[in-house]
Amino acid sequence: MKKDNCIFCKIIAGEIPSHTTYEDENCKVILDINPATKGHSIIIVKDHYDNFFELPEEKATEVIKVAKIMSKKMADNLQCDGFNILQNNNEVAGQTVMHYHMHLIPRYKFDKQDLTMETMQPSSEELLETKNIIIG
Ligand code: 5GP
Ligand code: ZN
Repeated sequence: MKKDNCIFCKIIAGEIPSHTTYEDENCKVILDINPATKGHSIIIVKDHYDNFFELPEEKATEVIKVAKIMSKKMADNLQCDGFNILQNNNEVAGQTVMHYHMHLIPRYKFDKQDLTMETMQPSSEELLETKNIIIG
């Protein structure tokens, strides 16, 4: 399944070059062209799914397997001190390429990157209300 004008479909098809660090039947791992830190990589599922909601469960399992393999390999070889593993869905959440992928971002003690979130301070009533909304 390939989508026209999708940059990641073109990378998977080899129409756009990339630095590939891992590849199997389901996934390809490449270096991000605008890395947040040294080694920032993205796991791209080969078939086109817009986002996590579209991704079949068996493909999600494959992504996690690759994340385990590559985070270990990158930690060993890059000697990083930690990882941010993240994944954006839809424009409002910062997704810019609408083809499912997962970010592997190695973190180093002295990197200048800051991926911390702005947080809210909800009351316990608000937390309870939110919980009830979620469980429906
Ligand atoms: P998103 O914002 O959708 O979660 O992440 C998309 C990522 O893809 C960004 O970090 C961006 O730098 C990366 N990216 C976009 N175009 C290309 C490309 O042509 N090649 C590579 N290697 N990475 C890309
Ligand atoms: Zn695509």
